[in-house]
Amino acid sequence: MADMVRAGLFDGLVSITVLNTTEAVREGKRIHDLTPTTSAAFGRSLTIGAILGSSLKEEDHKVSVIIKGDGPLGRMIIDANNKIEVKGTIDHPEVSLPPNEQGKLDVKGAVGTKGTIRVIKDIGLKEPYIGTVELVSGELAEDITQYFFYSEQVPSAVALGVLVDKDGSILAAGGFLAQLLPGHEEEHILYLENILSRFTRGISYEILDTPDVKELLQKIAGDQGYKILSEKEISYHCDCSVEKMQRALISLGKKELTELIEEGEAELICHFCNRKYTFSKEDLEELLKIALANRKIRIIDADTFEQ
Ligand SMILES: [Zn+2]
Repeated sequence: MADMVRAGLFDGLVSITVLNTTEAVREGKRIHDLTPTTSAAFGRSLTIGAILGSSLKEEDHKVSVIIKGDGPLGRMIIDANNKIEVKGTIDHPEVSLPPNEQGKLDVKGAVGTKGTIRVIKDIGLKEPYIGTVELVSGELAEDITQYFFYSEQVPSAVALGVLVDKDGSILAAGGFLAQLLPGHEEEHILYLENILSRFTRGISYEILDTPDVKELLQKIAGDQGYKILSEKEISYHCDCSVEKMQRALISLGKKELTELIEEGEAELICHFCNRKYTFSKEDLEELLKIALANRKIRIIDADTFEQ
């Protein structure tokens, strides 16, 4: 069953994307041991990653979202790819705040209202595309809407939601993105406003009631005809490996590697999935050899000589 479906309406002048990120958010909560407050903030951020990932055209395209506000949870980094494999880090997963005035999980309080959302897209060009907008609300849906409007020049409506049970488990999570494409008219804006006005309970309740995104899309579109443009699964997936960790160690250079060798061994923990990698003294000595060999190659490349 697909977790993301995108459809075109009105001959493609309006696009609607519906995402069920419940499983990915559950996995994120498990890995980072999130509280209800940080489950809501991190879950919405993972859903933003999934939205952006769903728009990548090629298999090797990647996107990162860095959300840095002045709230207690610190910084969140979310990575996503074209297969909608998402992963993320959060500085302070332990942050727990009382509910806000509406009785809801206080995402704004945890994220903060001053700061930025930065989107970095690697779409195979020489330089990555980077778009940064200031946070405007801290609840994140409005903030990413600003990003679409100012950085990508696409008028959009975004809804994000995470429904957390009394025991802290994730009941439902997901999002909704509607975009108006060039050539749209007043009637399309009114159509979208009408749709949004029906979302009074929040998208997470809609997903709880109708977890099948294609069914939910049909519910949202109502009588309006649409054409499905793409559908995909969404998963929390980390692509870290021994080779990547080795490369990270090699890039530390001679001084730091020598220090690690003197300490006897090194343990590296991936911040996206908490997997542990242990390198013995012998492993580190091998890596030091590679680092020194690389250094010589660089020196020859640069055509300089070291005394
Ligand atoms: Zn990992």
